[in-house]
Amino acid sequence: MKYKRILLKLSGESLQGPQKYGISTEVLDSYARQIKEALQTGVQIGIVIGGGNIFRGLQGARKGFDRVKGDQMGMLATIINSLALQSALEDNDVKAKVLTSIRMEPIGEYYSKAKALEYLEAGYVVIIGGGTSNPYFTTDSASALRGIEIEADVMLKGTRVNGIYTADPEKDPTAVKFDEITFEEVYQRNLKIMDMTAFTLCRENGLQVIVFDMDTPGNLGKVLAGEQIGTLVKL
Ligand code: UDP
Repeated sequence: MKYKRILLKLSGESLQGPQKYGISTEVLDSYARQIKEALQTGVQIGIVIGGGNIFRGLQGARKGFDRVKGDQMGMLATIINSLALQSALEDNDVKAKVLTSIRMEPIGEYYSKAKALEYLEAGYVVIIGGGTSNPYFTTDSASALRGIEIEADVMLKGTRVNGIYTADPEKDPTAVKFDEITFEEVYQRNLKIMDMTAFTLCRENGLQVIVFDMDTPGNLGKVLAGEQIGTLVKL
């Protein structure tokens, strides 16, 4: 097996599927099935999920919300998504725990590294909701942070695009995909794979990242089996 423990980052936006807002049960179920298959290979799975399908602090601030409150609304949105994913996993007979970065028992247990490791070792999928618990951060930063904390071998960033390109492939047809790239080159080329805070956390702590398309069923399993899909970012 290539990895003992992974941190999977799922974007909130991808949870909405073809809708403009909210949670698509089809997408949830597809993710849950992929995660179940992955778990059966024996890998330990931590998950951080975004909240952009429900609320983003920055967008709220543009509409006149206080930024800190808007960000707190965004963090609560990540917890809604965490519960939705937990429920879909349990429907697929996968044991899953939600740990929250903000205290809110009984919705989830309060996150600590020790608790996360205890559940991971016991075979649970551990979903860590509530972002970093701080405003002005993103769930990419939360997943970098939690990935480092739980000593994941890699952070898998599930996106709509199947890797990192020389330019945005949705806009530039000449864009070429990288199979592998260093953090330095991502920085030099100013490629936008995650925000700088998240990027720096990964880079300074040596957490490699694989960007891949999670919306194609089976892709998570392929990445874990070491197949060349997506882009690996390494030191
Ligand atoms: N957020 C925050 N602190 C964090 C993580 C998230 O304030 O540590 C807020 C922020 O407002 C963000 C929202 O939660 O816009 C949803 O997270 P994100 O935009 O990262 O979700 P995604 O884009 O992955 O759906």
